[in-house]
Amino acid sequence: MEEHNQVQTSTLVVNEIYLSLQGESSLAGWPCIFVRLTGCNLRCSYCDSAYSFTEGRRLTISEVLDRIQSLAASYGISGPRLPMVELTGGEPLLQPGTVALMRALCELGYTVLLETSGAWDISPVDPRVRRIVDLKCPSSGEQDRNRWDNLAFLTDRDEVKFVIATRTDYEWAREVLQRYRLSERCTVLFSWASPLTAAQHVSSLRPGPGQSERWSQRELAERMVADALPVRFQVQMHKVIWPADQRGV
Ligand code: SF4
Repeated sequence: MEEHNQVQTSTLVVNEIYLSLQGESSLAGWPCIFVRLTGCNLRCSYCDSAYSFTEGRRLTISEVLDRIQSLAASYGISGPRLPMVELTGGEPLLQPGTVALMRALCELGYTVLLETSGAWDISPVDPRVRRIVDLKCPSSGEQDRNRWDNLAFLTDRDEVKFVIATRTDYEWAREVLQRYRLSERCTVLFSWASPLTAAQHVSSLRPGPGQSERWSQRELAERMVADALPVRFQVQMHKVIWPADQRGV
């Protein structure tokens, strides 16, 4: 049993590791190495990375670090350490080894980002990590998974993200923003929910909103301005640059 636990904490099942530009968060546009972990226990209606639910290969943490160091090798080491490194998924916190990997990356001087569904406890994560925590809106189909206790652990390094597809999502997000005074704690992102391409859609995802309910980017942006919300509008930058269903970008 002890040997089994050791394997769980010293290895990770990894879907892909690649260098690209950070496409979301307040750090969008910076070079970033993505470590996409395999597995997620949610099935959000808008999930664009369903391929990470099961596809992956077990690597030791040291193999993951070697791959990151090799992708980062062409960047200089003066000024802020670039590229940054983001752990994403799937759901990174499903694997116990993720916490150790993030700590090791912080020790190496990287800016480390964690994208998490908000369904898991964020408190064991190294405080140097910038945690980007989703609050799942109604049209995700996973609203019941929000772990509200996480809000108490947020600091001004962290970010909260609402993925918004409909008016109902927007009104729910605005109410949560005000009830928990989220923008006084950290950056809050209102991210427009990109429709999935046919290739991205898999039958295990929760049903999404109908076409007539979906808001355009412009509707979301204009409503945010009209309501004077202290939040950051976001579109997924990588989907503006590359095809929406291209992997590894
Ligand atoms: S939390 Fe939702 S969007 Fe993120 S990987 Fe899981 S199913 Fe996809």
